[in-house]
Amino acid sequence: MAIPYTLIRSKRRKKSLSVRVDPSRGVIVSAPYRMPEFFIKKFLEKNAAWITKKQAKPALPPAKRRILDIELEEFVRSLVKKHAETLLLHPTAVKFKHVKSYWGSCSRKGGLSFNYRLAYASPLAVEYVVIHELTHLVHKNHSRKFWDTLRNNCPFVKEAKKELRHLVMV
Ligand SMILES: [Zn+2]
Repeated sequence: MAIPYTLIRSKRRKKSLSVRVDPSRGVIVSAPYRMPEFFIKKFLEKNAAWITKKQAKPALPPAKRRILDIELEEFVRSLVKKHAETLLLHPTAVKFKHVKSYWGSCSRKGGLSFNYRLAYASPLAVEYVVIHELTHLVHKNHSRKFWDTLRNNCPFVKEAKKELRHLVMV
């Protein structure tokens, strides 16, 4: 099945492919400048089920979206509390944002931010993002030490990363 799409080539240092389904503009694919088109088509075919589902689903009304946001905030806060206590870590703040660039972030001052889009991820993947950001309180980078510590604290790194890779930020 061929999916019609609009292709946007990025000249910046974009490394991966992203797909979003816009209610009025249809399927929009952002790809690295040199990525061959057959690769993009293959990717779309592989994700056809997801795309069709997205296309069929109208955007959530604001009230429902707000409920989803509040539920996510409560869930993430409970996870932060649980893991911060276990790992003896002390984040200075926990914030939530509507962003397209990250699932979670950790500021220099030790404040954690989470993407509201995590409401669409599985609880396991959300928990991974929480532990990932908490681990940044110890290691500010993505060094080997960071990943070793993270894997120690979170047994499902691989599964969660895989899920998040396929979950497109819309
Ligand atoms: Zn990180």
